[in-house]
Amino acid sequence: MDFDQARYARDDRYEPLLSEKNAAREEIDDSPLPDELTRDAVELPGLSEPELARHYTRLSQMNWSVESGPYPLGSCTMKYNPSFTEDVAADPNAAIHPDRSPRTSQGTLELLYELQDYLARIGGMDAVTLQPPAGAAGEFTGILVAKAYHESNGDDRSEVVIPASAHGTNFASAAMAGYDVVELPSGDDGRVDMEALDAALSEDTAALMLTNPNTVGLFERDIVEIAEMVHDVGGLLYYDGANLNALLGRGRPGDMGFDIMHYNVHKTFATPHGGGGPGAGPVGVVSELEPFLPNPRVREKGGNYRLEDAEDSIGKVHGYTGNWFVLVKAYAYIARLGDAGLSDASAKAVLNANYLAEQLDYEVPYEPFHHEFAATAGDRDAADVAKRMLDYGVHPPTTKWPEFVPEAMLTEPTEIENRDSLDDLAHAFNAAMADSDEELENAPSRTTARRIDQVGAARDPQLSWQALDDE
Ligand SMILES: *Cc1c(COP(=O)(O)O)cnc(C)c1O
Repeated sequence: MDFDQARYARDDRYEPLLSEKNAAREEIDDSPLPDELTRDAVELPGLSEPELARHYTRLSQMNWSVESGPYPLGSCTMKYNPSFTEDVAADPNAAIHPDRSPRTSQGTLELLYELQDYLARIGGMDAVTLQPPAGAAGEFTGILVAKAYHESNGDDRSEVVIPASAHGTNFASAAMAGYDVVELPSGDDGRVDMEALDAALSEDTAALMLTNPNTVGLFERDIVEIAEMVHDVGGLLYYDGANLNALLGRGRPGDMGFDIMHYNVHKTFATPHGGGGPGAGPVGVVSELEPFLPNPRVREKGGNYRLEDAEDSIGKVHGYTGNWFVLVKAYAYIARLGDAGLSDASAKAVLNANYLAEQLDYEVPYEPFHHEFAATAGDRDAADVAKRMLDYGVHPPTTKWPEFVPEAMLTEPTEIENRDSLDDLAHAFNAAMADSDEELENAPSRTTARRIDQVGAARDPQLSWQALDDE
C-alpha cells in the first residue's frame, strides 16, 4: 500500500487554510449547472462538510476557552455561560422582527420590561435602559445622561474624576463625552485617598466614576462619605459595574449612594464575552436622571407593554431596544438563579479568590480582597511567569495591571471553579514561579502559538489570508 506518512501525520501546531486544503487536491469536476448559472469569480474552496467541520474543530482546539479550563483574567470576569441560556435564546418564538408592532410583540416587551426591573432591583436603581451594547458603551451613555442632567439644571461642569486604577474605558468614555479627566492617585492602602479626593472635587465636577470593590478587589469602605463629598459639590457618582460579582445579592450600588451604573451582563450574568460582541451594557439611574435615558424604553400600563420616547432623552445609542438575544440570555440566567442563586454566586466568587490566594507562593499586597486579587511576581517578570503558566495547561491571569502593583498578576477565578480546578491553577502559579529564568524567557514551549507580537497584532492586524499572501 502506498501510504504517505507525512500526509497523515498531524502537526498539533499547524492547520492549513481551507484554500490550501483545496489546492492540495485534484480539480473538482465541472459544475453540472448550466454555464449561465455559474460564476468563475467566487473562489470558494470545494470541501465536504466533514472536512469543514474538522477544520473548525481543530482550530477551536488550538485555542483556549472557558470551556477548556479556568480563565482567571482579573477584571475581565471570564466565566462559563450555561448552555440553557443559549437554548432559550434559540427558541424560534424568541426571534421576532424588531419592527413588529408592540401589539403583536407583547411577550418580547414583557421580557425586556422584567429585565429592566430585575436589573434595577439588583443595582438599587430606579430606572434602567437596556440599549447600550457593552460595558464601555454603557459608561459613555451614563456620562451623557449625567451631562444632560447638569445641562438641564443650567449647570456647566467640565470635569470627571477617575481613580488612576480605573479601567481604561472610564477615561475614554469621559473624554468622548467632552469632559476633562482628573486622575485620582490611589491611597497607600489601595483605596481612594480621601484627601486627594477632597482636592480633586469642585464645582466643576460633573461626576466621579468608581468601581466597588475596586480593581484590586478592595471594598471602598468610605463609600458613604465619598458619595456625600461628591453630592456636596453637586456632582454625580457613577458605578462601573464590572465588579458587581463581588456584591451580587448582598450589596447594592444604589444603597451606597451611586446615581448611575452600568451592568456588564457578560461578566455578571450569562452572555458570551469577547471577540467583539454582540454584548450588552445596560445602564441604571436614580429617578432624577430617568428623563434623560436613551429612547425608547419599555413601559407598562394596565398590563400592556409599549415603547415610549421621553422628551429630554439623550436619544438613541443603539438600534431598537439593544441586543435582544444577549438580553434574553441575561434574563434567563437571572430568572433561573433567583435571589438566593445570585447571592450564592457572589459568595463563591469571593471564597474562590480567597482560597486560591491562600495556596499561592506569591505576595498579595492589598487585602482583604473580594472576588479578585492582585498578586505580585516580585523580582520576576509577570508576563514571563504568565507565559510559563501556559505550559502547565492553564490560562494565566491579567498581568502588569493595575500599574501601582509592581509586576501585577490580577487574578479572578470566578464562582464557577471547584476546589480541584483551583488547586490546578495554584499549582501552575507556583510551579511557574519556581522555574528558572531561562525557562520563563523561553515559555511557552507547549502551545500552538509561541510568543506573539502583541503590539503588531493590535496596530497592524492582518485580518485575512490574502493580506498574509501579499506580505
Ligand atoms: C470590562 C470592564 C469594562 C468595560 O466593559 P466592556 O463590557 O468590556 O466594554 C469597564 N470597567 C471595568 C473595570 C472592566 O473590567
